[in-house]
This record gives sequence, structure tokens and C-alpha cells, in this order.
Amino acid sequence: MRSTIRTRIAPSPTGLFHIGTARAALFNYLYAKKNGGQFILRIEDTDKERSKKEFEDDIFNGLSWLGIIPDEGPKEGGMYGPYRQSERLLFYVKAVDRLLAEGNAYYCFHDDYYLEQEKKRLLAEKKPPIHECEYRELSLKEAEQKKETLSSFVIRFKSPKERTVAFKDHIRGPISFQSDLLGDFSIARDVAEPLYNLAVVVDDHEMNITHVIRGEDHISNTPKQILIAEALSYPLPEYAHLPLILGADRAKLSKRHGATSVADFRAAGYLPDAMVNFMAFLGWNPGDEREFFLLSELENEFSLEHVQKSGAVFNEQKLDSINSFYVKKRMPADLMPLILPMFEAAQFPTENKMLIESIIAIEQPRVKKLTEVVENAGFFFALPEYGPELLIWKDNSLDDVKRALKSAVFILDELPPEDFTPTKLDAAFTAEIAVKFKNKGDLLWPLRVALSGQKTSPGPYEIISALGKEESLRRINEAIQKITL
Ligand code: GLU
Repeated sequence: MRSTIRTRIAPSPTGLFHIGTARAALFNYLYAKKNGGQFILRIEDTDKERSKKEFEDDIFNGLSWLGIIPDEGPKEGGMYGPYRQSERLLFYVKAVDRLLAEGNAYYCFHDDYYLEQEKKRLLAEKKPPIHECEYRELSLKEAEQKKETLSSFVIRFKSPKERTVAFKDHIRGPISFQSDLLGDFSIARDVAEPLYNLAVVVDDHEMNITHVIRGEDHISNTPKQILIAEALSYPLPEYAHLPLILGADRAKLSKRHGATSVADFRAAGYLPDAMVNFMAFLGWNPGDEREFFLLSELENEFSLEHVQKSGAVFNEQKLDSINSFYVKKRMPADLMPLILPMFEAAQFPTENKMLIESIIAIEQPRVKKLTEVVENAGFFFALPEYGPELLIWKDNSLDDVKRALKSAVFILDELPPEDFTPTKLDAAFTAEIAVKFKNKGDLLWPLRVALSGQKTSPGPYEIISALGKEESLRRINEAIQKITL
């Protein structure tokens, strides 16, 4: 009797860590945590040509950035290792040998050309394109002799005839397939060259995986895996197939929809808390109106019963709004290590850490993504070129502008350094406006433009407190020059 729940993801390191795989990792992790079980990472690197070390590292980095830490895996180790398929060959050899010896698998010597022609013929006859193999009943001994002389072969599973292969999916309910439609599918290129369906069954069994939670695109593999497991007398795991992730146009999410890898989202300035929260809602919901969940909260809330069958639409606006929620909650100093490299990449001077922290604090409530902090920050470092007309508020004259800016210089000149905070600046300027100006805009518009050189920007008090007295005065005086010339 297996008591501990053990889940896994088995990504292939053949591309950047995809949001679909990360979502599967999250659901597997949550299911294990909720039920006091273990979550395992196994790297499916049997495709030697396409598997790359850098993609494996990208999986490790992506998981650790999200905080989804496996209990066992290539880096963590564990009792059921090794955790890379390329290091587990002996397990597969044993299984393939056994399937061959017990007559549940056989060598097929048809080459690709033959298989292609057969497929064409069957399709033309309006029959399912299922390979009928004349080598199916060859004895293992005869096959092994033939293997000496023929180079083109594959090992196929001997699917039973006229059988219904059924299983109960935790999300989709009962599912069944007719074995005749599966045909004799291939399970290995040779005894020591297993293919996905064989390797995954052996690994899940050897690693005591109790629940296989994965994308819906694997449903059609499940009956094949069940047949292999039965032939090897393995107990079956339970299955749960997660809904596909769809783009806004309801087509399967792909590169053409924009960012798809965890690394892309990270570089675009999303926080891991936001990604986890957002990914949880790609197919799951808490059953009520709550929207914000930290990983630790999801660990208590998650259940497969609340995973939907229908496709999960990837809504970028929702991701942005979740992200801005988490960005607002962070302390500016806490965001500093994340944003500093972005400033460096944009080649902004970063020696003045106080300035950077102030920029973060100013932009934090305004942005959806961390990258926007940097995009909006240019004017803090260098005043953009602007024309004098931008300084004019409504139908004021250039003289009104000059008077306003001179008042600002006067106030700032008088103000002691400890009063260069937005609140104190507000108090000082509000008092001045009350006695000398009709409207706030008469003073604040030209002041803000003088400081930012832009039509829109954060408020003038925030900018002054970030830039400091000297630079603020320099910018205001530059504006006065502009309209005096
Ligand atoms: N390597 C497969 C994938 O990444 C694993 C599928 C499975 O979970 O069985 O899609």
C-alpha cells in the first residue's frame, strides 16, 4: 500500500522553461504539499540531440525563482535517483528486456519508407493509419538474428486486440480508448534507447509516483502508458490532466501570443509572487471571489476538484493587475536588487542609490511591471529636450510662467534640507499658492514641466525630493532661461 502522495514533473530540457510546464509544476507541487506528500523533478533528457544543459539550468532557475522547490530532483538528490533519464538507462533496459522476453513487445523491421507508404494506402482506403506488423509474431530468437543483418528497426508494444483501456481522470472523469486504435506503438529504438512512453512508465513506477498531473495534450499517451504498466505488473498511478492554456484568441498559447517562458516573464518585470498567483488561476479557482494568494496560502487551498475542464485563457491584463498588486506591496529597498540590473542594462548611472530608491518609491504605485520603472525613469537622469510652450498652463502668459517658476526658486532656496520631503514641500507650496496664485496649476504645471521636461510625470514634490535641492533648482532656472531668451 502506497501511502505518501508523490507527484512529479518530467520536463524535457529542449527549450526554455515554458509557462505550461511551470503551471504543471505548481499544481503538482500544491497537490503534494496540500496532502503532506512530495514533489519530484525528473529531467527527461533522453533526446540527446535536442537536450541542452542550458535549458536544464533554465528549469532549475525558473523553479527556484518561483519558489517551487522540489523535494527530490537532480540538484536536491533523494532516495529514488538518479533524477535524469539519461542516467537511468539500466531501469529501461530491464523493462524492455522483460517486455520482449514475455512477448509483450517485439522488434519491427519495417523502415520509414514502408511505414509511410502503408499509411498513405490506409488513409486512401479511409482506414485508420495503424501499422499492421508482419513481425509481430516473430520469436525473440528469430528477431535477434534478423537484427544482426538489418539496421532499421524499432521495438513496438504488442497492444491487445479489442480491449477498452479505461481510467478515471481526476479532472475529466472517466476516459476510455479502444486498444485497436492505439496500434502497436513504438516504445524504444533499441533495448538501451527507450522512447517517452516506456521511460515515463518505468520512472513513475520506480519513483513511486502516485499521481500523474500533467497537460491535457498527454491524454492520448495515457492508455499506452497504462498498457505498458500492466504488462510490467506495475500498480497504476492516478491521473489528472490539466486544461490547455489558451491565448486571448482561444488558440493554444504559443510564441506568437508573446512571452511564453518563465524567463521571458521574469525579464519583463513580473514578480514571482504574481506569476505563482496568476498561474494558479490558469485552470484553478478557490470557489469564491478571492483573487490574491501567496504560494503558502495556495498550499492550504488547492484541490483538484476546483480545476476546470475547459481551456484556461491567458489574460495579460489580469497578470498585469496581479503584478501591480504585488509590486505595490513590496518595500522599495526590497525591489532594489531586482530593478538595479535593469537600470544597469539601460545604461543609467547607478552610483546614487538614494536616487534609485526614490525613483522606485515614486514609480511603484504607477507601474504594472518592474521594467516600466526603468522606462519611466529617463528624465530623472537627464532632462529631456522640450519647448518653452510646454511650460504654459492653460491660457497663462510666459510672464505668468516666469513668475511661477521664480516663486518656486524662492521657496526652494529658503527651505532647509530636512524639508525636502513630498509632505513638507506640499505644505510650503500650498501656502505660497494660497496667497499668490489663482489656481494650483498656475504654479504646479510649469514647475512639474521644468523638473521633468514631460507632459506627464509624477508630481513635482516627489520629483524634487528625489532630485534634491541643487538639481531641482538647476532645472527650474534652466526653464526660466528658456522663456527669457
Ligand atoms: N516530458 C514530457 C513533457 O514535458 C512529460 C510528460 C509527462 O508528464 O508525462 O511534456
